[in-house]
Amino acid sequence: LMMLTKKLIEIRSILMSIDHNETLKLPSIVVIGSQSSGKSSVLEAIVGHEFLPKGSNMVTRRPIELTLIHTPNQEEEYGEFPDLGLGKIFDFKKIQKTLVDLNMAVSESECVSDKPIELRVYSPNVPDLTLIDLPGYIQISNRNQPETLKNKIEDLCEKYIRGPNIILAVCSANVDLANSPALKASRKWDPLGLRTIGVITKMDLVSPQVGAAILRNTDYPLHLGYIGVVCKAPENMANGNMTRALVKSEESFFRSHLIFNQRDIQVGTSTLRHKLMNVLEQSMGKSLYSIVDAVQRELEEARYQFKVQYNDRRVTAESYVAETMDCLKHDFKDFANNFGKPQVRHEVRTMLEQRVLDICAEQYWCDPKIAELPKASSEDIYWLYKVDFASAALTKSGIGRSTTQLVVDVLMNNMERLANAESFSCHPETRKQIMKFTSEILRTKFLATSDQVENTIKPYKFEVEVNDSEWNDGVKRSIILLEKELEMCDEMANSIKNSVGKKKLNSAINYVLDKEKEETKRQERVQQNDVEEEEEEVKSFYNPKLLEKAKDAIYLRDRAIILKYRIAALKSRQCKSSENKQYCPEAFLNVIAEKLTYTAVMFIQVELLNEFFFQFPREVDNRLVYEMDRRQIQQFARENPPIQKHLELQERKMKLEEVMDKLNYLVKRQADRANSAKFT
Ligand code: GDP
Repeated sequence: LMMLTKKLIEIRSILMSIDHNETLKLPSIVVIGSQSSGKSSVLEAIVGHEFLPKGSNMVTRRPIELTLIHTPNQEEEYGEFPDLGLGKIFDFKKIQKTLVDLNMAVSESECVSDKPIELRVYSPNVPDLTLIDLPGYIQISNRNQPETLKNKIEDLCEKYIRGPNIILAVCSANVDLANSPALKASRKWDPLGLRTIGVITKMDLVSPQVGAAILRNTDYPLHLGYIGVVCKAPENMANGNMTRALVKSEESFFRSHLIFNQRDIQVGTSTLRHKLMNVLEQSMGKSLYSIVDAVQRELEEARYQFKVQYNDRRVTAESYVAETMDCLKHDFKDFANNFGKPQVRHEVRTMLEQRVLDICAEQYWCDPKIAELPKASSEDIYWLYKVDFASAALTKSGIGRSTTQLVVDVLMNNMERLANAESFSCHPETRKQIMKFTSEILRTKFLATSDQVENTIKPYKFEVEVNDSEWNDGVKRSIILLEKELEMCDEMANSIKNSVGKKKLNSAINYVLDKEKEETKRQERVQQNDVEEEEEEVKSFYNPKLLEKAKDAIYLRDRAIILKYRIAALKSRQCKSSENKQYCPEAFLNVIAEKLTYTAVMFIQVELLNEFFFQFPREVDNRLVYEMDRRQIQQFARENPPIQKHLELQERKMKLEEVMDKLNYLVKRQADRANSAKFT
């Protein structure tokens, strides 16, 4: 017959994992008792190990759902917390410690939590039982506490003390039963005493006559009766199995008093165990048919929902992870295919061309003598030096570092884009991880690449040889660049003119120019007369911001004039040959920029890009796909709410199906038994 309890306990565990709203409930034994009544001692005697949190200030703050699983064919004894994934715990001290930690995790202000701690104990020495150790609620609710808290504790207890659960009311023999909080609670929830078992502890502390009278209790009769126990473990007991020592001393105690051997009296821990097993078995048996109905209903509902919502399509966390990662790799491949040499060249060239423009502006266009350049003698040292100086400014500007950094930045931006794709919107942590190893890969390649580039462009720092076609290209490109620059100047000048108004701007410009003329005259006077002249403060009626804009407009106008001259110069015969490079620095610098681009890109491609494109998908596999254990895969999939819902329903359906199979088997067995009983 015990088979039924075992199977139903299995089923109970499965149901607990999918249903916390109590519709599918199989009976369990709820243990209640005030502090020091010996409640823990009784539970530990049943389990055969010390494992419950102790200490006077230790208050149980969460219910413990204790499932005992009898394992006749194996020697090892161990516990498991199915919700924590700690695996088998063979050391019961460690179980005790874990229970303390779990209780302490409930804050003082919250006081109690109704989320049960699930603990399973596997042992050849335990019976198949499920027990619930409720928070020491009785002593708590008796203290001065706010009404809300009392209600909270009441609710929690009600939830567990309700039928079909069996109440194990623990009272100590040396306390008047009339005052026993456990019996009071039991009378409240089970007024007829139909599902309460009274356990009288500390029988050794009262005289046998008094003890026997308690067990025969007629004042508070219980249908399932009272059982007397002595659960005080003998001193100096090793942390092994305590059952044997305990039972032995208990047995000898009860045997030594004849009064306990009478038929109407029940004593001893082993009697208690058997009683619990029988009572639970019967209760389970009674619940069998109602639970079959309830599970059947839930299963039909789950099947219906699964059909309606998902058209019976199954998903697994594994397939979801694989799909998401494939998506990433696919996007990456797309990006890698579209980001090759031409794209890198474009990026690097754009950057170097900008640098060329900066150097030209600084070295040439701001030079007051620039207008004389086309007419200067070809021997003029000033311009000869200048062109060498400008080209050195370009080649020695840290090309290796800046070009490599540029490409790294472009790659990082693109990877950011990939990581921010729709498929990762629910996985911020994974996103961070992707960016983390992207930057790790790039960082390891950075130095080698930038050194390599810097080394290979080294010759250009000393001499740049230019052939005719390179020169012609350089001239063409520099004209295009300058024309663009000119266009930008004009645009900016126009936007200033539009924002201020042509008339107002012109008058402000004239004012600024007059002021500048005055200032130069004043300085000439100062130089000639060698006297300090107080600068007179004239309040201008122009708004300072307007004057700023006027100055900008003047600057842009001057720059535009110079650019036009330079474009004309570059188009002139003078710039037809590289021999005259000092007359056409813009073209010469462009030729150098082009050579630098070509060389830099070649090495960036080999050292950085190819390596990165090769390594990234492997890192995705190594760090994201293979690294994840079952738990992480589940967690990852459940970060996505629709997938989470899908998985949950699917799991619920599967578990209910499993439960239904088991139940059907049990029902059939019960029927067979009933039949064979009829015929014998
Ligand atoms: P709980 O607070 O209800 O869990 O009570 P405990 O199980 O911690 O027991 C309270 C105290 O009573 C402990 O010091 C136990 O050693 C002692 N105790 C428990 N059962 C017995 C018993 O049967 N006889 C005697 N003499 N002491 C017991």
